[in-house]
Amino acid sequence: EENQQFRVASTKCVDEYLEAKGEGIETRPVLLGPMSFLYLAKGHYAGKDAVLLERLADVYAEIFNNLRRAGAQWVQVDEPCLSCDLNEKAVAGFRFVYDKLGNAGLSILLTTYFSAMRANLNFVLNLPVQGIHLDLVSGQDDLKPALSEIPSTMLLSAGVIDGRNVWRCDLRKTIELLGNIAEIIGPERLLVAPSCSLLHVPLDLDMETALDPEVRMLLAFAKQKVKEISVIAHGMGCGLREIDDLLRENTAILERGRTTGIRDNSEVENRLKSITAEMGCRQTPFEERAKIQQQRLKLPFLPTTTIGSFPQTKEIREARKQFRAGVIERDHYEQAMKDEIARNISLQEKIGFDVLVHGEPERTDMVEYFAEFLEGMAVTQHGWVQSYGSRYVKPPIIYGAVSRSQPMTVEWAGYAQSLTDKPVKAMLTGPVTMLQWSFVRDDQPREKTCLELALAISDEVRDLESAGIKIIQIDEPAIREGLPLKGADWHDYLRWAIRSFRLASGGVADSTQIHTHMCYSEFGVMLQYIADMDADVISIEAARSNMELLSEIRDVCYPNAIGPGVYDIHSPRVPLQEEIEQLLRKALSVIPAERLWVNPDCGLKTRDWNEVVPSLNALVQSALRLREEIVSERLQTQNLREQTR
Ligand code: GLN
Ligand code: ZN
Repeated sequence: EENQQFRVASTKCVDEYLEAKGEGIETRPVLLGPMSFLYLAKGHYAGKDAVLLERLADVYAEIFNNLRRAGAQWVQVDEPCLSCDLNEKAVAGFRFVYDKLGNAGLSILLTTYFSAMRANLNFVLNLPVQGIHLDLVSGQDDLKPALSEIPSTMLLSAGVIDGRNVWRCDLRKTIELLGNIAEIIGPERLLVAPSCSLLHVPLDLDMETALDPEVRMLLAFAKQKVKEISVIAHGMGCGLREIDDLLRENTAILERGRTTGIRDNSEVENRLKSITAEMGCRQTPFEERAKIQQQRLKLPFLPTTTIGSFPQTKEIREARKQFRAGVIERDHYEQAMKDEIARNISLQEKIGFDVLVHGEPERTDMVEYFAEFLEGMAVTQHGWVQSYGSRYVKPPIIYGAVSRSQPMTVEWAGYAQSLTDKPVKAMLTGPVTMLQWSFVRDDQPREKTCLELALAISDEVRDLESAGIKIIQIDEPAIREGLPLKGADWHDYLRWAIRSFRLASGGVADSTQIHTHMCYSEFGVMLQYIADMDADVISIEAARSNMELLSEIRDVCYPNAIGPGVYDIHSPRVPLQEEIEQLLRKALSVIPAERLWVNPDCGLKTRDWNEVVPSLNALVQSALRLREEIVSERLQTQNLREQTR
């Protein structure tokens, strides 16, 4: 906010520096940089950037002072926003802040990652910092210009070990690259590093005892990556003969990985070749098929639904744990899930929902669940990584061609539908989200892997349709986070991302309604592309941001049906019915009632039932209330018209 004040509220970085020092280890404390802190935050301080930055810079100077007094010599400042397109003002901001921090008596290693800096590199190399880190995995383009322009006093940290993926490094190739860099700037100015923080990969491959050995040998998790770095540095410092055995072993494993055959599948290759443009297109345009769907579904206007999951209770988790540990049989576990589904269905009927869901009790996670069925994907036992706030997930590993050998959700969806006359919406995770939330093979373009996923999901879509399911939701919450950091790269990504979604969803009859769902981010910037996905209905996070998205919905004239979320599920707070009504009225000012759906922001798996039941009641009651209002308004205008006639 405009009046935002900042202060140092924690001594963590100093405490931890001193703790390590107490053990005789000199560390380089790491801070998120002030520019990224402001630039990547969601702020309401338009026009006041400079004022806020000045205040923030003072606070950073204080932290720097504290670190210096504690004895630190270096500080690493992460400025991931350097991977984005920056305007003049931001560049000026960088100069201002680093001029100030450059005088604080600490050497600064300025770090960025996840993409090349491209145009930003030039001014970065002129900032008064003592070292710069380049992500040489996803930002190789920066290397050449950096080497020719780096000031002779600046250190270069070469991020050569992929910190964001799980593949074993090619030691020889990496050493060769580093050798070339060292030749130009001198080995004493070169640091060997992972491309980014290792928090994005699991901790330790040694804990994975159940992975297929042919897959396992190709991997390196955080501990193994640290080892790779030290081996490389040792070899380069003391002579390659010192690490000869390791080099041989590395070469042999990589060669074996290329030839084992676990990665290839000729059937998948053939299917990829036979993809046609029609496969990604519905048979008729939205307006026409919407009528066909309406005849079949007979939904009221402002239809109510949820996003898919209901609370993952202690009991559900316990049942799964017991099943996995062999304490209970499969039948017993499946019955427990069915009982849960039956309770979910009857609760939704009681609350009065129009489109029901089965509640996803059987899913640990929306990506991992599918990965357990798909060929070419492996799941880990302990590969947890932080995903969102304090939440953790175990991203699957896509090591080979992806395909589906059996239905994954049909039984659950079919069971749910058998319990009710209302339509049950089946739930799938979309290809882009499966890709984005997995560790993806890096020996073929991501685009190709995404199409493989799309084909696998389209098989499931077809089976659901054949089983009599009338509505299928294909979630794509991660489509926005996959967007490249530089605008110049957007088009290419969106081309294949949207193509993949359309391939997954396009094969259905006109009478089958396709939904999609998105959350976690601001989608306004890409709403036009979202429209190109041509889902019949999209539910999208909006309550949390008080319907900010509406102006973009208006600007791009979003053509299909849309449910901007009216219940912020990321908060334990139960919304009041009046609040939901107010959000709906706002939405109605932009979206006609015939195309407006009423739903929460996202799935409810992380919430408690005691919050969910009253919230969902309020949501359905709001929709009923507004329906009444609209009907009576319409009657009035009709009467008026008749009178004036
Ligand atoms: N269908 C999923 C759920 O409700 C969607 C989750 C998500 O968007 N992240 O849990
Ligand atoms: Zn969501």
